[in-house]
Amino acid sequence: MQSSLIGKIEKAMRYAQEKDRVTFQELTVKFHGNNSDYDVTLKDGKWRCTCSFFSQWGLCSHTMAMEKILENMLPPEARTAHMDAAGLKED
Ligand SMILES: [Zn+2]
Repeated sequence: MQSSLIGKIEKAMRYAQEKDRVTFQELTVKFHGNNSDYDVTLKDGKWRCTCSFFSQWGLCSHTMAMEKILENMLPPEARTAHMDAAGLKED
């Protein structure tokens, strides 16, 4: 029992290095922006954010930051950020 648990712990340590084994299908976070907190969610491959910029543009600094943080742990349809996009204001 104990040696098999040790094996699982060793495996977990290896898995934790191999982040592309994990794909976020859904998540909800509280994002602490400079001025306010926002709820950022991913569901069915689509991002949502409660900030006003997102409601106009369909993306924002918060969703793009989440994409950068999670990178290859996101399904392809959730990787939408163009980090070089011109005209994005900070908030
Ligand atoms: Zn936002």
